Amino acid sequence: MHVIYGGTFDPLHHGHLRLALEVSERLGNTPVNFVPCHIPPHRGETGATSAQRLRLLELAIAGEPRLRIDDRELRREGASYTADTLRQLRNELGAKTPLVMIVGTDAFASFDRWREWQQIPGLAHIVVVRRPGTALAPESEAARLLESRAVASAEALRARASGLALELDPPWLDISATGIRERLGSGRSARYLVPDTVLTEIQRMGLYGACPADNF
Ligand code: ATP
Repeated sequence: MHVIYGGTFDPLHHGHLRLALEVSERLGNTPVNFVPCHIPPHRGETGATSAQRLRLLELAIAGEPRLRIDDRELRREGASYTADTLRQLRNELGAKTPLVMIVGTDAFASFDRWREWQQIPGLAHIVVVRRPGTALAPESEAARLLESRAVASAEALRARASGLALELDPPWLDISATGIRERLGSGRSARYLVPDTVLTEIQRMGLYGACPADNF
């Protein structure tokens, strides 16, 4: 089984790390691959570059064999679409290996606006993680997909290569990258929201308005 978890990770934080580990455990300690996405340049000046986000990810997962990084979207020119990434992985893994994509309900709610979304169930299973305060609109394509393809257990995902949906409800840490950027930008501390190694590197590189001389 191959598991991916995509996001901007700008920056990666303890919410992402805990979620990846919780899902890994529920899937029998299968490694989870973080797939940082390309950020369009117009998104804003406070964000980090691809290389910087990647560096923070590397520091965060160091020493944890169940967490890995797949930087393929950063190596591609321009915007990355989930369907392209899944298609590439499917070609590499062959037709039989279960491929699993982790996504929070916040991101999954707009599933039917993703490029080539109809192709996605044919390429991968989807593990949808409930994000408190967000819900899928009852008549939405996302809700329909979840209902029509639902399985009750992680084991069921191993029986097929793609096409199933599993809803999980692991503890959710109330942390967002936006909140971290805001804190750093206004001179407050982001300690305990990200690993100390990540925070030290953010300060060293002066990211998100953090000043190298700032205390934790
Ligand atoms: P931003 O605040 O910049 O939107 P974010 O913290 O929500 O960032 P993203 O990189 O946008 O993080 O999210 C990537 C994935 O991680 C999404 O599927 C999202 O649902 C999930 N995610 C975001 N925050 C958390 C959290 N606190 N715990 C677990 N998963 C999270």
